[in-house]
Amino acid sequence: MIFDPTELMRPNIKALTPYSTARDEFSGEGITAWLDANESPFDNGVNRYPDPHQKELKKVVSELFGAPVDTIFIGGAGSDEAIDLLMRIFCIPGKDNIVTIAPTYGVYEVSAAINDIEVRQVPLGEGFSLQIDALVEAADDNTKLTWVCSPNNPTGNAFSIEELCRLAEKIKGMLVIDEAYVDFSTKGSMLPLLERYPNVIVLRTLSKARGMASLRLGMAFAHPSVARAMAMAKYPYNVNGPTQKEVIRRLQATPDIAPDVATLIAERRRLEEKLPQVAGVKKVYPSDANFLLVKFDDPDAVYEMLLRGGALVRNRNRVPGCEGCLRITVGTPEQNELLLKLLEQ
Ligand code: PMP
Repeated sequence: MIFDPTELMRPNIKALTPYSTARDEFSGEGITAWLDANESPFDNGVNRYPDPHQKELKKVVSELFGAPVDTIFIGGAGSDEAIDLLMRIFCIPGKDNIVTIAPTYGVYEVSAAINDIEVRQVPLGEGFSLQIDALVEAADDNTKLTWVCSPNNPTGNAFSIEELCRLAEKIKGMLVIDEAYVDFSTKGSMLPLLERYPNVIVLRTLSKARGMASLRLGMAFAHPSVARAMAMAKYPYNVNGPTQKEVIRRLQATPDIAPDVATLIAERRRLEEKLPQVAGVKKVYPSDANFLLVKFDDPDAVYEMLLRGGALVRNRNRVPGCEGCLRITVGTPEQNELLLKLLEQ
């Protein structure tokens, strides 16, 4: 596919001279007196600015995820940071628009609102299915980004790679696939197809299957021109030093998350089996993620009852398309047991 993402970027971003940080112009060899950045000279472990380009971290991420370094953006405020940056790079406030599926992850809409970008929502079809033609029809010349979360939050289902490819071939503008929950899915990732589709951007996070939500590390994988624009538009030191070090340490110590993922999928299956037998449960939607969307006769009452019993779930009853539903994260076997016990009472 011949496609130049820079043609879709805002002119001010294309013309941007990025802020040049203290350590940009120099590799660091042979320096014993760092007198360039007005830091404190007293070594307390955190007195120096971190690497603004996260070179070491990107090498580790590149190897683990099988993506070239020049296609990687790393955000220090989770993948939420990448979501907001993409809005700012591609969409002219008050003029451009984005297309999303509905229901989906709420931050796309919030970030668009903050940036004064129109949101065109295209409801999912029967069984939360992807409506490719409707998504394509919703887009016009001012549509810069189409957002598809797969597996989708809060519905839990993933879309097939074949469907996502078909959308990538037809859609105007860039297609962002948010793969926050992809490790729990058997439907595969769009990551290996980035070279074939330069209009696709894949979002990943360490907050879910990799168990590092507190470290706030998110990633975007994209055409090098997009990764470059994100690097130019980000805050200079957007990933703090302790996070860079700790993430490198953890990714190297535990590159394989298959055992944790297998436990959670087995627990998800157990809940999928048991929940339909509970009185008041109307439907358990199929899930490719680490949570279940469950429809109840009286979701608000169940939510309150669970809360009183010490289990907090996400009430999605007022989200259009999810009426009657609670979204329940798969926990440890003990936590899931508590959930089932409370529901059965
Ligand atoms: N995408 C989806 C679909 C999510 O559900 C979440 C978090 N709930 C995120 C992105 C953001 O994750 P983080 O900012 O922790 O990387």
